[in-house]
Amino acid sequence: MDPARPVVPAPAPDAGATAVVIGGGVSGLLAGWELARAGHRVTVLESTGVPGGCVAPVEAPLPDGPSLVLDAGAESFAVRTPAVRELVDELGLSAAVVRPEPTGSWLFLPAPAGAGPGRAVRAPRVGLLGIPGDLDAPEVAEALGPEALDRARRDLRAPVDRWAAAVAGGAPATVGAVVADRLGEGVLQRLVAPVVAGVHSADPDTLDLRTVAPGLLEALVEHGSLARAVAAQRAAAPPGALVASLRGGMNTLTAALAAGLRAAGGTVRTGVRATALERSGTGWTVATDGPGPLAAARVVVATDGPAAWDLLAPLAGPALSGAERPAEGAGVALVTVVADAAGLDAAPRGTGLLVSPGVPPAAVGAKALTHVTAKWAWAREAAAGGPDRPHPHRHVLRLSYGRNSDAPDSTAPGHRTPDAELLARAVADASVLTGVDLSGAVRSSLVVRWRSALPAATTGHRAAVGAVRGWLDGQPGLDAVGAWLAGTGLAAIVADTRRRIGRTGP
Ligand SMILES: Cc1cc2nc3c(=O)[nH]c(=O)nc-3n(C[C@H](O)[C@H](O)[C@H](O)COP(=O)(O)OP(=O)(O)OC[C@H]3O[C@@H](n4cnc5c(N)ncnc54)[C@H](O)[C@@H]3O)c2cc1C
Repeated sequence: MDPARPVVPAPAPDAGATAVVIGGGVSGLLAGWELARAGHRVTVLESTGVPGGCVAPVEAPLPDGPSLVLDAGAESFAVRTPAVRELVDELGLSAAVVRPEPTGSWLFLPAPAGAGPGRAVRAPRVGLLGIPGDLDAPEVAEALGPEALDRARRDLRAPVDRWAAAVAGGAPATVGAVVADRLGEGVLQRLVAPVVAGVHSADPDTLDLRTVAPGLLEALVEHGSLARAVAAQRAAAPPGALVASLRGGMNTLTAALAAGLRAAGGTVRTGVRATALERSGTGWTVATDGPGPLAAARVVVATDGPAAWDLLAPLAGPALSGAERPAEGAGVALVTVVADAAGLDAAPRGTGLLVSPGVPPAAVGAKALTHVTAKWAWAREAAAGGPDRPHPHRHVLRLSYGRNSDAPDSTAPGHRTPDAELLARAVADASVLTGVDLSGAVRSSLVVRWRSALPAATTGHRAAVGAVRGWLDGQPGLDAVGAWLAGTGLAAIVADTRRRIGRTGP
């Protein structure tokens, strides 16, 4: 079904009608802003104390100056589509757009037996999800070694019938199955698994290729090779980095959306959780854990997947009974470390590294490290303390812990690991990963935990999304937006939210 086309007639434009948006992340704030600008009286309910969801700010207190304000979650947006950039322009933030420093990124791979905790290698320069687009590149040869590289080269000549049939028949295609078949286990384990784990907190064998790399399966069939398909997709993308951000961080985007919403007469109520949703007459009633239920002509559910499911499924009844409730996921913990370390000035690992799941947790527990002050010039200036640079060697590193593929009894540190243990691990891991001893150099550190925020892009999840959207198309005045429906990433969420909210609005 075309998500942009309602199956029932849209309600008549109803300027001045009340609208309640449940969830104050980027999708909820954007939905609220759009509805307020269209004349609705909008209330956004946010259960935590701060709007922004995964795009909220976090403060790192420092002993020798003001706190450093950083991104708690998302730190960049994809530029392969104009969706976020257009929103940024509309919010008057065009002058704040920044690109990452072009220093490249690295991978941390398992070491041969007895040869230390692992080895850092440069990531493929031309790649998508870690899938290399150039099998002649020296960094690909270094990461793979001769045997795995030979196997990968078979992709350039092996027939593509199996995937042509999958394209024609709509058969499931996971990232793991496609990469292993075309390029071999070496590429899957060394180049792709670290990226999939770091970016999607997922196992390649459960990650749906069509969701995370739209068009890649078709391009593989067209070009007769997965590597050539990646190269073609990268060549078609705008030149330069694939991502951008805003000076001050992506949290300035949600702050601007909240400000725009208020300027258009809307309200954000933090610390209020929606607990149930009911039809009442031609409208809706939202029960909350705060003061009294709220009546509204329009309701937009903009929470994470599990919370949205719990609000919508009781209303939908049999329409969703065959579909899967979105999985909670294992959750991730992000540790931010602020350190004074001259050894990091040369950015020894570029903008950061992704760690292969094959590296034993006892050697390195983190799944990724971002060298925030090497990646973003604005963060480097802020950490240095301003134009006079009183702290010239101050760096910010962000390490992430927890993979969806971790077994419940895994010894790997993750979402449930206590703060003190995570902070100690982060300093040890950062020292191994960067090759710079950071013990004694830490000036501030903090932990942020995410649980249901990363939707599972499994094939079962796609079916659930189809069922929810199909049912919502028949519910005038009710809609749902957010990452669990649109796919992870601000570009997908912004485009999808605007399409849905514009659909039946005035
Ligand atoms: C650590 C991390 C890093 C990321 N990095 C990037 C990145 O660099 N680039 C990128 O494009 N994407 C990134 N993402 C993904 C992206 O940030 C998210 O997909 C996106 O921000 C999700 O927005 P959302 O509005 O759908 O949901 P959320 O941000 O999860 O917002 C939902 C909100 O609903 C609230 N809520 C839940 N239940 C209720 C209830 N019952 N009542 C009221 N409120 C409720 C929650 O508190 C939350 O604030 C990252 C995600 C995470 C977790």
